[in-house]
Amino acid sequence: MQLKEVLIKNGFHFNKRYGQNFLTDTNLLRSIVEKAGITENDTVVEIGVGGGTLTRAIAEKAKRVIGFEIDLNLKPVLAETLSDLENVEIIYKDVMKMKTEDIETLIGGRFSVVANLPYYITTPILMKFIEESDMVDSITVTVQEEVADRLCARAGSSEYGAITASVDAVGNAQKIMRIDRKMFYPAPNVDSAVVKIDIDKNKYNIKDMLLFRAVVRCAFLSRRKTLVNNLMMYFKIDRKTAEEIVLNVKGDASVRGEVLNTLDFVNLQEEILKRNIKF
Ligand code: SAM
Repeated sequence: MQLKEVLIKNGFHFNKRYGQNFLTDTNLLRSIVEKAGITENDTVVEIGVGGGTLTRAIAEKAKRVIGFEIDLNLKPVLAETLSDLENVEIIYKDVMKMKTEDIETLIGGRFSVVANLPYYITTPILMKFIEESDMVDSITVTVQEEVADRLCARAGSSEYGAITASVDAVGNAQKIMRIDRKMFYPAPNVDSAVVKIDIDKNKYNIKDMLLFRAVVRCAFLSRRKTLVNNLMMYFKIDRKTAEEIVLNVKGDASVRGEVLNTLDFVNLQEEILKRNIKF
């Protein structure tokens, strides 16, 4: 039976609040899983199981799938669509309310994330798995195309922002596929894209990760202000110190934060660290 029929049969009503736009095309779903590089050795965490279509495509390739779903109304639907799969476990919980360490304990080893993310919490979910866990190998997510472009942006471009540098600091993001809005049920107002992030926490050997994150936040605090001004405000330092720091990093004290690439941010973090500036 097609997913749409199962949804109707179970009297399921889409809940906009949960960002419910389902993918049903089997070829497309298989292609996402293939590009995610999932193999029979992988344990995969799926966030937002929906009707279980992506879950099934992952389960065909992975050793084990642990899916999280917030909407209890999907329980009877998933009981039908996934009942024949032995390597799938669904946890009916709000993933954002779970401690990352509890998710890690539940999984009991390294894992990859594959998800068609609810748009309203895309960034918090990404940052949760990128920043709070050391057990993640890769994250392959379907997101609004605008978010995909931000994740993969070049320094200095209009799409470049704090999330670009935060992700690039610990991984390599790549846009692997566009998905037309018509492929979703119901269709949203924007197109989507799939981004794969290969995690590499040692990419830059960042000495103080909390400070690095603070530095990135600070640089994008006010896009119209220079980096010197943002540093002065955020770290409560005088102009002379802020200028010295920016000159050491970029050779030009008048730059804005958005022109700094990830390595510049790493260097900025070290300049602040060696001056023992508190934040
Ligand atoms: N994976 C399915 C697919 O590709 O068709 C569904 C994707 S749909 C965009 C997002 C799903 O995430 C919905 O089923 C929604 O109920 C669920 N969801 C939303 N917020 C959630 C949360 N905080 N924790 C767990 N699941 C959530």
